[in-house]
Amino acid sequence: MSRLFGIYGELCATHPWEVIVTIITLTTYFLTVDKPHSTPRPCVGCSEEHYLAFDVIVMTIIRCLAILYSYHQFRNLQKLGSKYVLGFAGLFVVFSSFVFTSAVLNILRFEFVDLKDALFVFLILIDLSKAAKLAQFALTSVNEGEISKNIAKGVSVLGPTITLDTVVETLVIGVGTLSGVHRLEMLSYFACLSVIVNYVIFMTFYPACLSLMLELDRVSEFHGEEMLLEENEKSNPAVQRVKLIMSFGLTVVHIHSRWTFSNENGEIERMNLEKKVNCTGDTSMYSYLMKQFALSADHIVILILLVTLMIKFVFFESKDHLTDHISHSETFSERKRSIQRQKRTFSNSVEVQTDKYSHNLSTESSKYHSIDRETDVPRSLQDCLQIYRTDTAEELSDKEIILLVDTKHVPSYMLEKVVKNPERGVKIRRTIVRNMLQDSDAIIHLPYKNYDYEKVMGACCENVIGYVPVPVGIAGPLSLDDMTFYIPMATTEGCLVASTNRGCRATEKNGIKSRIVADGMTRGPVVRFTSIVKASEAMLWLEGQENFSAIKEAFDSTSRFARLQRISSHIAGRYLFLRFVASTGDAMGMNMISKGTEKALRLVKDKFPGMEVLSLSGNVCTDKKPSAVNWIKGRGKSVVCESVISADVVSSVLKTSTAAMVDLNISKNMIGSAVAGSIGGFNAHASNIVTAIFIATGQDAAQNVSSSNCITIMEPWGDRGEDLYVSCTMPSIEIGTTGGGTVLPPQASCLRMLGVEGPNRERPGENAKRLARLVCGAVLAGEVSLMAALASGHLVKSHLKYNRSYSSRDSMSCDFGKDCDK
Ligand code: NAP
Repeated sequence: MSRLFGIYGELCATHPWEVIVTIITLTTYFLTVDKPHSTPRPCVGCSEEHYLAFDVIVMTIIRCLAILYSYHQFRNLQKLGSKYVLGFAGLFVVFSSFVFTSAVLNILRFEFVDLKDALFVFLILIDLSKAAKLAQFALTSVNEGEISKNIAKGVSVLGPTITLDTVVETLVIGVGTLSGVHRLEMLSYFACLSVIVNYVIFMTFYPACLSLMLELDRVSEFHGEEMLLEENEKSNPAVQRVKLIMSFGLTVVHIHSRWTFSNENGEIERMNLEKKVNCTGDTSMYSYLMKQFALSADHIVILILLVTLMIKFVFFESKDHLTDHISHSETFSERKRSIQRQKRTFSNSVEVQTDKYSHNLSTESSKYHSIDRETDVPRSLQDCLQIYRTDTAEELSDKEIILLVDTKHVPSYMLEKVVKNPERGVKIRRTIVRNMLQDSDAIIHLPYKNYDYEKVMGACCENVIGYVPVPVGIAGPLSLDDMTFYIPMATTEGCLVASTNRGCRATEKNGIKSRIVADGMTRGPVVRFTSIVKASEAMLWLEGQENFSAIKEAFDSTSRFARLQRISSHIAGRYLFLRFVASTGDAMGMNMISKGTEKALRLVKDKFPGMEVLSLSGNVCTDKKPSAVNWIKGRGKSVVCESVISADVVSSVLKTSTAAMVDLNISKNMIGSAVAGSIGGFNAHASNIVTAIFIATGQDAAQNVSSSNCITIMEPWGDRGEDLYVSCTMPSIEIGTTGGGTVLPPQASCLRMLGVEGPNRERPGENAKRLARLVCGAVLAGEVSLMAALASGHLVKSHLKYNRSYSSRDSMSCDFGKDCDK
């Protein structure tokens, strides 16, 4: 239903001229069509003789209600703010209420001389807010192309509700036509007609007009929270249901009454005639006075009500309201003055404040003004540039900032800095991106709110448009070096956490022992010499102890924690690849070591001026690519760990035997990987555990390539060889607890769970080492569990169960152990 309305709305909005011309032509025709004077027609308020006191009371109440309702609508519209919204709503009122209804009345041959009553009926029936809301939808458009799309969206959201409302209103008001009070009956007829005409105009003329006016006016910079509007306007299904039931009931009432009416037509007409005769025949003094009194009372009541409302608005409401919505109506200079006033007030009242607090305040203040300005027309490019150049771009509205980006005055990557509010910067970039995408709704499920972008800026990511939440599971307790840990794992692979969890249980009894055997991050620049003679000369020079000491001094001077350990050289013709190896404390160390290497190379270049530094990274590092050098020589932390799993645990927890595990390990992890020509891949799935922990703890996820290098060894253990000995050797875990993504609050939380958040102040480097050992320990647990699942043939079954949880949500017992979530 909603989609149909959407298509229809788009049709109206994309063909505004056709719709408008058709409607106006029809209206003109209806207004000018000749009326046959011979046919007597129902008459509203045309006969003074029929002016009964009861009629006057009913009409006075209706008029008062109309005035109160209009006042209420006016207040609501004022809260919506924009003069455009008000303007469009006004346009709708004038056309729909007056011109078109008159035209329809004309064609139906209704006499309608008492315009003052008609006006009150109009006031009651017209829902200005719906018109204003459709206008708001249209005004959310950023460019011309979006206008018709947004109007269509508005019609699709509002259309079904308005259709149902029209049906209900017509039926309810239709009850008035059965009242027996002549005047009320005629007004009810008129009201029903107005409701229907109103609806037709709202669905045809109005969207077309909106579309045309926006395009002509080039109010194309409007944009905003369509999503929010859409959500707000979605009807309450319960209310809709009640309306539907009500419509059905009232339709039955109408059919029944009209049928009765037509059956008893003669009788009722006779009674009406009697009433008419009584009325016209009554010329007594009493009746005359009553009529005069009723007429003046009618006017007095309405006058009092109007004056009361005016006094209420002028003296008790308007000022507060205007203060709340100041930015909707004020001019730019007024607004600027108001912002400055606020800033002055703040600085007067708070003399001492921290930088952060003042930043927060300005952020809030700009947020407030930006939101309020969104409904205003964007200022000219010249004005915007002027404001931008005075370093107060945060005072510009989102549309104005987008104008500056579109015209290449502000680079998109600078948005956060320019508006001095990271989240607002991200929001504006999303709007820009949405306009560039073919499917502008593509990013609506990519969240961006409530994120600490301050920590991301200039450190973790650029051109940010949001963040991807990844589920984090927990495996443990992992018993490692006589301590227990709960390992956070961020993954979308079902089974993985459960499997690691089972491995933790299997190793819990005897625990896992781990050792760091080497710690050195590497950077391998490539330099070129004029000849192999010069290249080999430099190679020998670097090996000299004194020369190395000088280089180390230069390298170490660049950081408090990076310490150069050695340089290994690899010659290839006149090219020399130098592999700098350094400890980097608690940081993974790539930036630190790059800085140190750069400085060291300058010193080498002083000695060999003919040396050309081709690149700081010559791929012998080797960073984020498979290579034998890391596997053989190590990179980052080189870790080894072991555990003995007793035979009873192998059978009760792992559901297999030691012999089967050992046999499988040889055939799969040794022979299979050798046949595949693997480098560092002598394991079952080390990379699974490494990557999940890396993502959870803010590591550079791309470094899972080398970090997952692992050889898993399994041997029969104990006197009878029924226990299982397992070890994992991981020579190149590139990991840190400070720097990079480790500073982001969720990632830092995961590090904190492991007791290794940030740098270790007492013993720098210890946190990173412990984290590397934890990774290796968790890998061992994961290896044991997966190998057991394979050995016992449970793998496919478990994966189907966990990866396709929709088919097995209620059977959570798993093949990694009876209660794997324990
Ligand atoms: P970093 O954040 O650039 O440097 C670590 C900072 O922490 C240094 O300023 C260091 O002080 C300070 N620090 C304080 N306490 C420390 C402690 N106990 N141990 C070590 N440092 C301590 O981090 P990084 O590990 O060198 O670089 C990581 C980033 O590099 C990640 O974002 C990663 O994605 C990225 N990366 C870069 C490259 C590249 O080629 N540059 C390659 C891959 C990844 P000092 O200033 O005294 O050293």
